[in-house]
Amino acid sequence: MNYINGEVNNSEVNSYPHLGLQHDDFRSAAHALVDRIIDYYGTLAERQTFPNVKPGFMRTLLPGQAPEEAENWPQVFSDVEKVIMKGSTHWNSAGFLAFFPCGTSYPALQGDLLSGAANPIGFSWASSPACTELETVMMDWLAKALNLPEFYLHNGICPGGGVIEGLASEATLMTLSSARSKAIRTQLSLHPNQTHHDIAKRLVAYSSNLSNSSVEKAGKIALVHLKLLDADKDGSLRGETLLAAIEIDKNNGKIPIYVCASLGTTACCTFDDLTEVRPILSATPTDSVLCVTMNYINGEVNNSEVNSYPHLGLQHDDFRSAAHALVDRIIDYYGTLAERQTFPNVKPGFMRTLLPGQAPEEAENWPQVFSDVEKVIMKGSTHWNSAGFLAFFPCGTSYPALLGDLLSGAANPIGFSWASSPACTELETVMMDWLAKALNLPEFYLHNGIGPGGGVIEGLASEATLMTLLSARSKAIRTQLSLHPNQTHHDIAKRLVAYSSNLSNSSVEKAGKIALVHLKLLEADKDGSLRGETLLAAIEIDKKNGKIPIYVCASLGTTACCTFDDLTEVGPICEKEGMWLHVDAAYAGSALLCPEFQYIRKGLEFTTSFNFNPHKWMMVNYDCSALWFKNSSHAVNALNVDPIYLQHEEMGSAIDYMHWQIGLGRRFRAIKIWFVLRMVGLEGLRSHVRRGVAEAKHLEGLVKKDSRYEILFPVTLGLVCFRLKIETFDEEKTNELNRKVYEAIHADRRFFITPASVGGKFIIRIATGHVNCSTAKLDECWNVIQDVTENLLGSSPHLDEYTADCSR
Ligand code: PLP
Repeated sequence: MNYINGEVNNSEVNSYPHLGLQHDDFRSAAHALVDRIIDYYGTLAERQTFPNVKPGFMRTLLPGQAPEEAENWPQVFSDVEKVIMKGSTHWNSAGFLAFFPCGTSYPALQGDLLSGAANPIGFSWASSPACTELETVMMDWLAKALNLPEFYLHNGICPGGGVIEGLASEATLMTLSSARSKAIRTQLSLHPNQTHHDIAKRLVAYSSNLSNSSVEKAGKIALVHLKLLDADKDGSLRGETLLAAIEIDKNNGKIPIYVCASLGTTACCTFDDLTEVRPILSATPTDSVLCVTMNYINGEVNNSEVNSYPHLGLQHDDFRSAAHALVDRIIDYYGTLAERQTFPNVKPGFMRTLLPGQAPEEAENWPQVFSDVEKVIMKGSTHWNSAGFLAFFPCGTSYPALLGDLLSGAANPIGFSWASSPACTELETVMMDWLAKALNLPEFYLHNGIGPGGGVIEGLASEATLMTLLSARSKAIRTQLSLHPNQTHHDIAKRLVAYSSNLSNSSVEKAGKIALVHLKLLEADKDGSLRGETLLAAIEIDKKNGKIPIYVCASLGTTACCTFDDLTEVGPICEKEGMWLHVDAAYAGSALLCPEFQYIRKGLEFTTSFNFNPHKWMMVNYDCSALWFKNSSHAVNALNVDPIYLQHEEMGSAIDYMHWQIGLGRRFRAIKIWFVLRMVGLEGLRSHVRRGVAEAKHLEGLVKKDSRYEILFPVTLGLVCFRLKIETFDEEKTNELNRKVYEAIHADRRFFITPASVGGKFIIRIATGHVNCSTAKLDECWNVIQDVTENLLGSSPHLDEYTADCSR
């Protein structure tokens, strides 16, 4: 009803609170939730550690789809007990003695809440300097606290340094892939005619048979032969075992490249002997020293000392007052964002001078820590929620999402298997169905639908792309092996080809590199769309050359210019060729909530998997990426590793999401989706999307009125791509001029925008729909752009050409 021929009813779209709740409603809800969390921790002894529920229990407790209208907090809050707690395995309960502990503490919850509220996506230094810099400093603090070798320090002597990954599984995969790439480069320099697969098939990695299943999984993903060597009777991988394996492999023409040693194996907390392993490896040494603390004297723990500190890091009442104050501060932050500069005036390294070189020995109090938030974090923050932030795509946040995140951090289960916390898995399956219905995805994507399909929450769209490419690769390898059983995985993998358009996100290219699948970036047409004939031509050439086309990643809403691949053309080709068709709709997927944007879904019935990021445009804070499989068994078959310590009695009748993703562990992200869908309601979310589009249309109108600029791609959703165009200028001069316009806007600091380069054209892109974006702010931005342009043209040596051009 809001949309008639692209016209938005502005009064309606502006009538709902941009953060999903009014400030004061969030304040009372968050204070109540904090109190409830304290109560939860304090009364855990009264709860049963493992719940009495059976797979599917949650379906009967929840409606079949998301509500249209927003529900209020008391309704949602009361369901936490009835729905979540009913099926929760309490990882913090005294009776929970499984797996390893999953750390939680009150200070960690506070940090998480703040991080969710600021919600920058720290992919680059500039995306938020504070995010990167605090990470480098914290990694050094940790390295020193653990007494790691000096070469691991960022401010140390080598090019070393630390990074925070989500999971140990990611760290293993990342390091194995790095070792693989290093080895391939070395071999290529010696034998330039070899292919990557010729080399990769000779590589060998080692670990002990007690190492975590994620190491085996990393070997499968990276297509590196991982050998699990026998640990000795004390559970330790010994030098002689490794040496023997390496010698045999070298004699057989293999290239040993990597060892993943364990300090604390999952099954029995045993330790590989690094002093023996290290000298064998000519590679970088890793002689970690086990940290011996003052509490430990000959293995004896001083109990009075270890029991004197609060187990949650703070006393309950100290957390209550600190968390209430933090909630109030977050509200104040959102309310006063207009007074902050969107992009900070800092230079790389600014934080080193503001923080000590190592972690404090003694606990500091909250007021000390709190005051540093402003001095340290805010000083170097790019404010992704500020009205002047028009860069990238929006990174969704909202008060209901923050409430969900806080609860999820407090419950803190790691939902790798159904049994690890039934509520975590079940709420995810229900939420993925709610979302699939809200977006009107094909029915085969529903968990309770007709086939083996269903959805899963990954952290990122990048993971979703990699996961689907790996699934397609594994399916193709299995099919080929059944036809030619004597071939190796690499014989087959080197013939596989995947396709995407040259406008797809860089994460698609990265997925190809990780999976060692040749990814071809095909030319999009002049409207930025991958067309059927382009794909068909590429497939035909590849097939003639003996290649096996397996996968297409089509984009709905490209990052550079929000254009759409033509699924109605690409889809039937994939179907005919038996290829996997994945759709990356990371940003634009949220638009499918609105009936008027359903037209962009045309062709979805041909897809094999579909992904979008609620953490972009659906008011769910980072990270949260929704992925659906038409047939999830392809994913499960690709990466299934099933060690005994992860098995449970409901295996087979319940979903174990660890098999649907790259890593093992996973957060309880479904809670924040649940809270957002209920407390904002589908109508509220549609308003949010419509507001972003209306803002973009408004800006498009301004740009179109000034003949010096041209719009480069259709403004379909919330992205406007344009450039200054002077007819007498060639492409090079035009690009140079636009780069200067962009640089001047950036230097002005009132607005943060990002450029793109499409088809050799440097373009300015402005994304709307961020929390505080408004048409008034876009008017202001447009004035800055015009001022900048006039200043530039006024001082330009090309002024005469420009004036001549205007007077024509
Ligand atoms: N795909 C598209 C179309 C995107 O726009 C983006 C990021 O903006 C991505 C993928 C990467 O998303 P993520 O950071 O979730 O991996």
